[in-house]
Amino acid sequence: MSLLAPLLEVQELDLEADRRKLERENLPERDALKACGAEITNNDQLQAKSRTELEKLARDERQVAGQVSTVAADAEGVEGRLYSGEVTAPKELEALQEELRLTRGKQNVLEEAELEIMEAIEAQESKLAKLAEARTETERRGEEVADTIRMEEARIDAELEALAGKRRKPVTALPAGFIETYSALREKPRLAGRASAALVGGLCQGCRVSLPRMDLSRILAEPEEAQVECPHCARLLVR
Ligand SMILES: [Zn+2]
Repeated sequence: MSLLAPLLEVQELDLEADRRKLERENLPERDALKACGAEITNNDQLQAKSRTELEKLARDERQVAGQVSTVAADAEGVEGRLYSGEVTAPKELEALQEELRLTRGKQNVLEEAELEIMEAIEAQESKLAKLAEARTETERRGEEVADTIRMEEARIDAELEALAGKRRKPVTALPAGFIETYSALREKPRLAGRASAALVGGLCQGCRVSLPRMDLSRILAEPEEAQVECPHCARLLVR
C-alpha cells in the first residue's frame, strides 16, 4: 500500500462529513419550522386586525345603545302625555299619536341596527377564537418540528463524531505536513473538498488529466514522503 494511501481514506471520511453537515444545514424540517413561524406572524396580524374591529364594533354598539335609550325615553314621554288625560283636543291627540308612531319607528330602526352590530360582534368573536385555536395548533406543530430538528441534529452530530474518530488513525499514519497542506487545499472552493487525488497510470484521478511524460517522470522520481501536486488541478497526488 502506498505511504500516502491514508490521505485518500481521510478524504473519503471528510467528504462524508461534508455531506452530513450539508444534510444538517438543509434538514427539510427547517423549512417547515420557518413556515410555522410565518403562519404565527400572519395569525398575530389577523388577530390584531380582528381585535381592532371588535373595539370599533363595541364603540358603535355603545353609541347605538345610547341612542336607543334616548329614543325609547322620548317615546315613553310622548306616550305619557298621550294617555295622561291632560290632552283632549282631537287634533293634538292625533299629533301625539303620529309623533309616537314616528318615535317608535325610529326606535325600531335603531334596535335593528344594534342587533346587527351585536351579531357582527359575535361573528368577530368567533373568528378571533378560531384564530387563537389555529395559533395554538401551529405552535404545537412548531414545537414538534423543533423537536425533530434537535433529534436529527443529535443523530448527525453523533455520526460526525464517529467520522472524526475514524479519521484519527489515517491522519497519524501520514508523513509530516501532509494533513496541513491537504486541509489548506480543501479550503479552495474550486477543488470541491477533493484536495487529494490518486495518480493512476499517469492519470490524475482528481481532474482526469493525463500528466505529460516530463511531469510524470519528475513526479515519480520524488521520494514517497514528498508533497507533490498535480500540475493541472493542484491536488495533492497519492502515488
Ligand atoms: Zn489533477
